[in-house]
Formats: sequence, structure tokens, C-alpha cells
Amino acid sequence: MERTMIAELSQCIDQTVKISGWLQVLRDQKSMQFLILRDRTGLVQVAHWKKGNPELAELISTLGTESALTVTGKVVENPSVKLGGLEIQLETLAVENAAEAPLPFELTGDVLPNVDFRMDWRYLDLRRPEPLLVFKVQTTLEKAAREFWLQNGFMEIHSPKIMGTPSESGAELFELKYFDGKAYLAQSPQFYKQMGMAAGFDRVFEIGPVFRADPSFTSRHMTEFTGLDFEMAWINDHHDVMDMIERWLQYIYQAVKDEHGEAIKELLGVDLVVPSLPFPRIPMLEAIQIVKEMGYDLPEGKTKDLDPGGERTIAQHVKEKFNHDFVFVTDWPITARPFYHMRKPEDPSLTRSFDLLANGLEICTGAQREHRRAMLERQALEMGLTTEPIAYYLDFFRYGCPPHGGMGMGLSRLLMVLLGLPNIREAVYLFRGPNRLNP
Ligand code: ATP
Repeated sequence: MERTMIAELSQCIDQTVKISGWLQVLRDQKSMQFLILRDRTGLVQVAHWKKGNPELAELISTLGTESALTVTGKVVENPSVKLGGLEIQLETLAVENAAEAPLPFELTGDVLPNVDFRMDWRYLDLRRPEPLLVFKVQTTLEKAAREFWLQNGFMEIHSPKIMGTPSESGAELFELKYFDGKAYLAQSPQFYKQMGMAAGFDRVFEIGPVFRADPSFTSRHMTEFTGLDFEMAWINDHHDVMDMIERWLQYIYQAVKDEHGEAIKELLGVDLVVPSLPFPRIPMLEAIQIVKEMGYDLPEGKTKDLDPGGERTIAQHVKEKFNHDFVFVTDWPITARPFYHMRKPEDPSLTRSFDLLANGLEICTGAQREHRRAMLERQALEMGLTTEPIAYYLDFFRYGCPPHGGMGMGLSRLLMVLLGLPNIREAVYLFRGPNRLNP
């Protein structure tokens, strides 16, 4: 017999079905046993009349919650049952894998243990409906992201994650032994995305792992995360990239709302708002002025960019003035940006760059890249880099590279803002941080 998913049971009244799932609750009464079974589509009540099969009744009474079971039985209507007005009359039961008792924590308890403890038992944590929803949303998000990119002429690439030289700077770099020498784990697909532009691919995207040896213990940093990256050629300036990002995000939000809007409201209490276009854009120096005027004190020495508190303050300004959850902070001073960001021709102390903040959280960085080789080399030298290790990168700009730009975004950061999750640990399948390598 084929397995039936619990959500489909209402179409199977009076039929005998096979369902498989986890024992969420066992109510062992005098003459009856009720098992609440859960699969990824829902819950169902299974009823067993003890006298009908005393041996089976005995087995059932020993079952621990969260045991993995397969049962067969007849689906009958029963209006008094809260779970869909139906139940299954148990015929056979197979214990596929009994759960030890007690469980490390009660999955349906009112008070959950802290996130770090739940990370130790992530597979159990993921059995709860809220985390399950996060990953249903992630699946829809990635599908919509790809769909939009494919509709807009982007090609998917997979760039190497083992590199001979760092892609950005020496900081936050994982070094590894590579035969007799050393190599590094990619901090971003940046250089290789740009190679796609030199290769004439016009528009590329990548969804892939990114590694950062970042020793920080915040609610938004991981040492390994999934990056959503794209790069596009023949642009006029960084505004073309921002135009693309906001259309792409609007498409993703709409897809997630269409498919999961109700569940997100019910389980996470978030009323998903599809953002309107265009997103407000504020140059960095103006943003600094605004947060100062709002009475926010930037830390000493912060004159070229915002700290996380400053980011939240500018987001508050944007919410009040434009009623918008997103803001592009643009035109960053050169000292706060990597060497390959293009400088503004009208003011070379600034770059054609931006960060995107969502509810005050940075979710994306982007820019137009410098595609003129001589200029790129000069900027690298000016910022104190030696050009020898990046010679292969500079070579990308020797034989006809179009003007281009792009962005990088953390998948889990986007999930955090979409679903109002307070901690990135809740927005990733398995968290990796300075103190976390298992499971
Ligand atoms: P932050 O200032 O938050 O440390 P960053 O400036 O180092 O981020 P970028 O190098 O610009 O970030 O990376 C692009 C995007 O990748 C970020 O906007 C963010 O969404 C995501 N990201 C960066 N670092 C991390 C991290 N350690 N963990 C999770 N996501 C990250």
C-alpha cells in the first residue's frame, strides 16, 4: 500500500490507508488508546480499541513520544475530533524506530530551551512546526529567486570554493593545507562572478557557500553561510543593480506570501508585506547626518559608515518618512569599501556602491565594479594591496570587459527579515560559528 500524507486524509474517508510519522501524543485510556501522529503535512488522531487486539495495546502503551511509526487503518468521519473531523481506526502498527524516553526537551512544551541547547538537538527542534515552516519558506524563496533570474536573462554558475589567494582581504579568511602548499576557503564568489562578465555571460547568479573566519558572536553572523549573488553587465551605474534587486525581492516576497502567507501569520505572527517600488535610496554621508540629527551618537571615529545602532536609526527614519521597511544606503566613501568598487567620476572620494538594510539589518552589499584595468590596479595599490597575488584577477580586465556590477546577500539574513526571526541560528539548517562545529 502506498503511503498517504496526513493532509490528504479528508479525501480518503471510508478507505484503508497507510500513514507514516511521529507519535506526538499518546492518550492511553481504559478501553481506548489515541495516538496523535504527525507528518510534515499535519496531525491526525489514530484510535485503537484495546480489547480488539490486547497484544497491540500492550505494545502501544510502551511507546515513547516521537517514535517513528507506520500505521494502517480505516479513515472515518468523526465530527467530535478537532483534527479535521476525522480519525483512523487502527488496524496494524509498525514501530520503525522507537524514541528513547525522556526526550532531551519537550517539543510541544510552552517553554522551549534556549537556542544553543536546541542546536545540540537540531533534528528534534526541526520537527516543530515553526522551524519546519522556515525551511518550506526557504525552498519557495530560492525557487522564486531562480525563477526571476532565469526570466531576466541570468545564467547560473558554480564557482570554486577553494582559492589560491584571498578574494577580498586577508581578514576573516580560513586557511587550509593544500598538498604541499596552502589554499583559502572563498569569502565570496566576487572575483569569479566578475570573470563571467569578462567571459561575455552578461548576467550570472550563484547560490552557494561562503566562508568567513569571523570570530564574532552576534545574532547575525556565521562562519559558513549560503550566499545569493548576482552580477550583471552593460550597466550605467549602481542604480541599475539596485533596480534589479528591488524587483527581484518584490518577486520573492510575493511568491512567499502567496504560498505561505497564512501559515507565517498563524505560526510566526508576521503579516508579510510585499515591498513597494522603488526602495528609498539615501547616500551614506546624508544618512550619517540624519542619524546625528536624530540624536544617535555614532561611535568615535565612525565618520564614513554606520554601526549597527546607526543602521537601526536610519531604518527608523525611513519607516517614519517613507513608511518603507527597506533602504539602500548608497555612495559609500572609498575607505569603507574594497578596492574594486568604482569611484564616482564627479567625486572620487565616493564609490558607486550601496548596502541594503531591511528593518535596520544589513542584508546585502553591492556596487558597480571598476572594469578599467589601469584604474583597478591603481586603486588596489592605493589601498595598500600588492597586485601580484591578484594578477589573475587583474587579467580578467585585459581583453574587453564590459562595465558591470552586482550584489551579495546572505540567504539566512533574508529569511530573518522575511520571517521576523530574532537570531540567525533559527534561520539556518545547521549553524556554524566559532564555537559550533557539531552536529
Ligand atoms: P556585516 O557588516 O554584517 O559583517 P559584511 O559587510 O561583512 O557584513 P559582505 O561582505 O558585504 O558583509 O557580505 C554580503 C552579505 O552577506 C551581507 O550583507 C550579509 O547578508 C551576508 N553576510 C556577511 N557576513 C555574514 C556572516 N558572517 N553570516 C551570515 N551572513 C553574512
